[in-house]
Amino acid sequence: MTKVLLLNPPSKKVACRDYYCGHIAKGDYSWPPYDLLVLSGLFPKENLEVLDCIVEKKDRESVFKYLSSKKIDFIIGLFSSVTYSEDEAFYSQLSKEVDAKIYLSGDFPKAHYKKLCTSLPIKGVVLDFVENNLKEVFLDNKYTELVNIYHPEESHLLSLKNSQNFTYGIPKHELFPLNKYKLAQGIFRPLTVIGTDFSCPYSCTFCFFEKISYKKRDLQEFQEELKVINNLGIKEIMLMDASFGVNKNRALKICEMIKVYCPKISWICEMRVSDVNVELIKAMKEAGCHTIMLGIETQNQKSLDSIEKHITTEQTKNALIVCKNFSIRTLGHFILGLPGDKIQDMKETIEFSLNSSLSFASYNIATPMVNTTMRDEAEANQGLKTDIYNMNLSDGKPLWTHTVSADELYALKKQAYRRFYLRPSYIIRQLLSIRSFNQLQILVREGIYVVLKNIQVVK
Ligand code: SF4
Repeated sequence: MTKVLLLNPPSKKVACRDYYCGHIAKGDYSWPPYDLLVLSGLFPKENLEVLDCIVEKKDRESVFKYLSSKKIDFIIGLFSSVTYSEDEAFYSQLSKEVDAKIYLSGDFPKAHYKKLCTSLPIKGVVLDFVENNLKEVFLDNKYTELVNIYHPEESHLLSLKNSQNFTYGIPKHELFPLNKYKLAQGIFRPLTVIGTDFSCPYSCTFCFFEKISYKKRDLQEFQEELKVINNLGIKEIMLMDASFGVNKNRALKICEMIKVYCPKISWICEMRVSDVNVELIKAMKEAGCHTIMLGIETQNQKSLDSIEKHITTEQTKNALIVCKNFSIRTLGHFILGLPGDKIQDMKETIEFSLNSSLSFASYNIATPMVNTTMRDEAEANQGLKTDIYNMNLSDGKPLWTHTVSADELYALKKQAYRRFYLRPSYIIRQLLSIRSFNQLQILVREGIYVVLKNIQVVK
């Protein structure tokens, strides 16, 4: 029987490589890698094996030893620009250790598939993990047409498709070690991830989704997946939609489905502040949503406009009030060092976060990710070398900055974390909000991590 291994390779850090948005975790959190979970929906269970080396904390040697004794025909592995060097070395060695055809998925493979297939001994790249014909190619050896699969030996068969609606079957959640995953803002376990669409209809110039067309999943299939999740006893989900609520009526329908088919589930999602409104937030709350992550980015309207964010600072304030009124926790994503922002603008953005009702804040340094306009401009006009791919800015000093020095930005970011998370009033508020033992464990662990990281004990 044909065996397919879905692989999240090892890394020395807690790497999140899925959904074309590679980053190094700021704490000790992880979720089932979305690309791999979706791909598990394509194949029968008996053909599949899953190995997530990040959550299983496996190192390279143990993986090679384990796989060398197995019969594996195909490997679909994650690869990210944030772990570029590690991943390159790993797959290079893996191709010598196992007799399997290797295909890759991730931000870098999607953006530079031809280059990757030339530099690494792999068979191909999965260009779209929600829409492809991998099952026919792997299980039926049907190479007549390769839908969204780049295969250099058969590159003339590549057909790039982008349907408005898609299905991929019901992912095999049970093959993933669901009890081991944990979210920094999670309340219950076991947890998993699920999606209702792909990419985002907006085109913010720093975001990998800028150049990926938006499409929707068949909601009947989503409903079937909810039933499976409920039967598996999963208690928490992270909705992977890049911007839940872009279509209000569809979002209301999704909330109704969650309420009916997973009546006890609690969940978390990403939203645009411009999509927050009373009717939708009320429906989300009733369906079990406890935390919404909002892309606030900066409080400088000119910068927001220059990155094509299409939100206003007033919409941000309104979104926070609405969520607070429904007792939904909010996480604000902020970006320090956007090309239009001066130090004073960043300080004002940080002050805004401290004086807001946000439950969590995530301060990031502007990163010219592969396949974005920000990257194109950084390479063309701002001196970024075209061969620097390892833009690992999540946990260290930036490798590239525009108008403000790397040292200044790094210091500002650390200071922001310290000031936000070490406020006594904040700590008391968090302790009073605990709803489960799992949440207490996460709070203590993530709290320790933030403290250590920001007094520079953890490197
Ligand atoms: S709205 Fe969010 S997900 Fe959509 S392009 Fe902008 S940053 Fe990316």
